[in-house]
Amino acid sequence: MTIQELIDRRNRLLGKGAALFYRTPVHIVRGDGIYLYDSDGKQYIDMYNNVPCVGHANPHVVEAMALQAGTLNVHSRYLHEGILDYAERILGHHHDSITQVVFTCSGTEANEVAILMAQHATGGRGFICTDAAYHGNSAQVRKLTRVTTSPRNAGEIRAIPYPQTYRPIVEGLSETELCQAYLAEVQILIDSFKADGIIFAGMLVCPILANEGLPDIPKGFMKEAAKLVREAGGLFISDEVQAGMCRTGRWWGYEVMDFVPDIVTMGKPMGNGYPLAAAAANEKIVNRFRQQTHYFNTFASSPVQAAVGNAVLDEIENRKLDLQAASVGKTLSNKLKNLVATKAPGSEVMGDVRSQGLFIGVEWITDPESRSPDRQGAIDMANKLKDKGFLLSNAGANGNIIKIRPPLVFEQHHADLFFSAFSQALEEMWMSP
Ligand code: PMP
Repeated sequence: MTIQELIDRRNRLLGKGAALFYRTPVHIVRGDGIYLYDSDGKQYIDMYNNVPCVGHANPHVVEAMALQAGTLNVHSRYLHEGILDYAERILGHHHDSITQVVFTCSGTEANEVAILMAQHATGGRGFICTDAAYHGNSAQVRKLTRVTTSPRNAGEIRAIPYPQTYRPIVEGLSETELCQAYLAEVQILIDSFKADGIIFAGMLVCPILANEGLPDIPKGFMKEAAKLVREAGGLFISDEVQAGMCRTGRWWGYEVMDFVPDIVTMGKPMGNGYPLAAAAANEKIVNRFRQQTHYFNTFASSPVQAAVGNAVLDEIENRKLDLQAASVGKTLSNKLKNLVATKAPGSEVMGDVRSQGLFIGVEWITDPESRSPDRQGAIDMANKLKDKGFLLSNAGANGNIIKIRPPLVFEQHHADLFFSAFSQALEEMWMSP
């Protein structure tokens, strides 16, 4: 079947709105570690997928999954040691105050649970998020998607402009002053809930603002925001679905941002592609949630989830992938930054290079003076790199961030290959824009 025939069949069966990457979509048939292969046998280096964090078709994970699936897989209303072992291990990687966990099958469900936990713990309904957030697709969680700040949302979900230094809400401030300006936005919303008679439940954010575009966040913002939220009786929820599981070089984004959340949610990489996600908090919050909701999820907390989750942890721990992510990410982002610093041919469209461990965002702009986001340019670059055998995409609030977020098993020699393809693509775009 040709690519066009596959697209037509897909549109007919899945609906025309189902998104696809790239102008000529790729038909991937096999994965192995950092590599993906299309139906013609062309090899790509995966620069995008954080889910298969320990590599596509990781043999240790596949073996654990197959062994458990061939032994037992049932819902959670039976005793099973595997899920308890996994709970102990994943909680062991968290701050001491995070002591209990509720498993789910998606990041959306984990955030749904976190919202319910906060509502039951506080008796509140009012939540703060950012104006370019994405936390999931259910009826409740999707309410936190791209909430407008102007005019101010009057409902139970209200947004602050996402904190950043590149296009700050007020120009010309020091980083400390800018941090205060964004904190004032948090306080305004807390006060507005009070004025409107809505009990405040908390704030839900990705600690590194991944979907917003991985901005440089004014130092101290998350820690101080968490303080403001708690002083107002709310809970601070850290959505670690993208930031967690060593993506930043640390286990959790909240460690990088130097704060302790009341509730954390996790997902995507936890199961290396098998549906495994979770919300975790302290005993008081989780017990209250359990007792008041009697939460049950058919496929969550299962023996196969546990086997897969444990195998993923084995791989990350044994191969020290947190350290590898930190060092490979740093070297690659420094090289990309150096393209800008040395004014390499074509690099004037790279407005900013930002990174957190093995997660790099390159801000694509039309020109350095206006700093206008260039979404089309970012899309062109992603397509060009695809042709060169590197799969990534554009993302962020304006769709103009080149998002570099390979599986954690991405090594320095892969980064070197990517960097030379990136520099070459940049030069080619400069020569024939
Ligand atoms: N939180 C964040 C920060 C996400 O990026 C996503 C998915 N992109 C989700 C939650 C939702 O996760 P899922 O698709 O597994 O429901």
